[in-house]
Amino acid sequence: MRYETVIGLEVHCELATDSKIFCSCSAHSYGAEPNTHVCPACCGMPGMLPIVNKRVVDYGMKAGLMLNCHINRVTTFDKKSYYYPDLPSAYQTTQWFAPVAVNGLVEIETSEGKKGIRIKQIHMEEDAGKLVHDIREDTTHVDFNRTSVPLIEIVSQPDLSSAEEVEAYLERLKALLRYARVAECEMAHGTMRCDVNLSVRPEGSDKLGVRTEMKNMNSIEAIKRAIEYETARHIDAIENGTEVLVQETRRWDDIKGKSYAMRSKETAGDYRYFPDPNVMPVVIDDEWFDSIQASLPEFPEVKREKYTTELGLSDYDAEQIAKSIALCECFEDAYSVCGNAKDAANWMISEVMSNLNARQMTYDMLTLDGKALGELISLVSGNKVGRANAKKILNAMFDDAAVVPSKYAEENGFIISNDTGLMDKVIKTMVEADPKAVADYKGGKEKAIMAIYGKCMKELRGNCDPQMLRTKLIEYINSL
Ligand SMILES: [Zn+2]
Repeated sequence: MRYETVIGLEVHCELATDSKIFCSCSAHSYGAEPNTHVCPACCGMPGMLPIVNKRVVDYGMKAGLMLNCHINRVTTFDKKSYYYPDLPSAYQTTQWFAPVAVNGLVEIETSEGKKGIRIKQIHMEEDAGKLVHDIREDTTHVDFNRTSVPLIEIVSQPDLSSAEEVEAYLERLKALLRYARVAECEMAHGTMRCDVNLSVRPEGSDKLGVRTEMKNMNSIEAIKRAIEYETARHIDAIENGTEVLVQETRRWDDIKGKSYAMRSKETAGDYRYFPDPNVMPVVIDDEWFDSIQASLPEFPEVKREKYTTELGLSDYDAEQIAKSIALCECFEDAYSVCGNAKDAANWMISEVMSNLNARQMTYDMLTLDGKALGELISLVSGNKVGRANAKKILNAMFDDAAVVPSKYAEENGFIISNDTGLMDKVIKTMVEADPKAVADYKGGKEKAIMAIYGKCMKELRGNCDPQMLRTKLIEYINSL
């Protein structure tokens, strides 16, 4: 018999807000001393009242709209009760009855073609703290820096049927949420985590099999391996009766390549969800909703299409720039000033990206002023600044956002003077200093001239029109 795997995902993404979801503590505590980003509210002290961070709701809505969801105009928070030492109030404030976004659709593309994955809901919630086990002292410490850091949980319908589809879906979520700048979605940084719900049924059947859940998966490779392992385990149990499948939560051990039973799966009733009386319902009026909708970016594929058809970029160039919304915005601003899309794309792909790499920054971290980049590109194409000096100016712009290219060029003597008298003098000196290269050139080795050209350019500190220098140099050698 042939079987199909049925997979639904619950994806947690940390929202990129500055502060936590219900208090003003900083949400960024990576590398900080334990319990230094905390206050009575996020430590669950009695009597403290949470206040909803508006930015969290903004981002929740943005995520919902990017994933084609319906936004609940009245969205409420609920208590999910469970006890664990990293949860100081013994309940998590989350959304159950009226999550911010419901009924979405995400389109993915795999080797099998396009497929729509339905989104059941997106809810906003607080993260828990972190337990740190110390084996030497045989103690466990708790760090509350992460409690109340805002998360969204994106719950899909069980529409996925292979590891390849899961990978495409996670990549798509990451691309869309990064484009909207609501979340980093980097599994390696812990800003995206995934619970995998999986069951197996005979192909063509519309009845779901016994479902198991693997929690807190944090790498796509591990998820793929876990899906393959679980699918094989389920089929083996069904066909050979090797074990009785039960609904449960399982732990994936990536080193052993196996999953282990952890606990029987809780049902919603176990959590005793009830409306949190301390948090007022959030009412999203038309003005708020419209402002969020207006702030949404175009989708990556729309950008790519526009860049190739309207601006004439190659597929490769368009693909490279469309990788990040920050690159797109910088490119579009640069193009609006310099008027040459191909030039702007070349600068983005060669110089801007290599500057980011050298600084170990991701594309999304780019804050370069695109309009200033456009000005710099115009200085080069207008033969006002040489390319080598332009690179130095770009470097300065990365170091200091206040650098104005034309001003910086003037202050540092980077403006091409086209002082033909000086150029002639330098050419004469360099030609006389290298009779061998001159003889080689005259003997038919055209490339021999490049060494002299390079020395002239260096002597002129790059401040000359390269084409003019080349022409004058050839003219001079030919006149000898
Ligand atoms: Zn706090």
